[in-house]
Amino acid sequence: MKYALITGGSRGLGRAIGQKLAAQGWPVILNYRSDATAAEQTQKAIVEAGGTAELLPFDVSQPEAIEQALEQWQQHHPNDYIAVLVNNAGIRRDNLMIFMQNDEWHQVIDTTLNGFFYLTRRLLKEMMTHRWGRIVNMASLSGIKGLPGQTNYSAAKAALIGATKALAQEVAPRKITVNAIAPGFIETDMTKELNQAELKKMIPVGRFGKPEEVAALTAFLVSDDAAYITGETISINGGLYT
Ligand code: NAP
Repeated sequence: MKYALITGGSRGLGRAIGQKLAAQGWPVILNYRSDATAAEQTQKAIVEAGGTAELLPFDVSQPEAIEQALEQWQQHHPNDYIAVLVNNAGIRRDNLMIFMQNDEWHQVIDTTLNGFFYLTRRLLKEMMTHRWGRIVNMASLSGIKGLPGQTNYSAAKAALIGATKALAQEVAPRKITVNAIAPGFIETDMTKELNQAELKKMIPVGRFGKPEEVAALTAFLVSDDAAYITGETISINGGLYT
């Protein structure tokens, strides 16, 4: 059986993506780092809606933790493989560059970029052996445009977009697609302290996006209908470009 793993699947975009993929029939694995309560709520919602969801906590920035968690998962699933990987886990540690601390820089790069590298490398072999896979990387408008106060986050997301383009070309012959999504402002915990009333004046559609809207795009990229789309970064931002 083919599974879909969503990193950062406890809350926000990851929760909506887990629910959407489960509704489309994917057995989902919800990864998270520390918020077990939120992860259990997401799992419960999926199961109550008739889907299948497992929890697999690990820190995506820790290669040993990834290895240990996936080794255990494989032991319990000897005939299954993870065919869909949504690299969604991410954090913000905003600061003006002149004040930015080393740990603010490294934590963001470690989670978004190194997390993508460790986990994707680990799961690629099985996808290549089975000659089918879908990888979706959660980038950001910040990685396309650059946003002041986010040199760490913009750098990590821009690098993720570059890696998406390169990896897409490496694995295309094995029917594995690799795409990125670049959301603008979406209503989640990550954006809850922002001044939405003020910011939405800049957004042509006039509002923040909903996690379900990002989940719908993810589900399309994962589907067979999207087999000819790879190496792309798709913006979902209500018309907010520069
Ligand atoms: P969120 O509500 O803050 O949720 C973040 C998720 O990532 C949580 O599930 C969290 O787990 C998990 N996570 C963080 N660090 C992790 C780690 N080291 N290992 C494993 N899981 C980790 O954020 P969100 O708004 O849903 O954002 C999801 C993704 O979309 C991020 O990559 C973010 O950069 C990107 N994005 C968001 C927006 C937006 O407007 N919201 C816009 C552009 C891009 P715990 O629950 O255990 O903490």
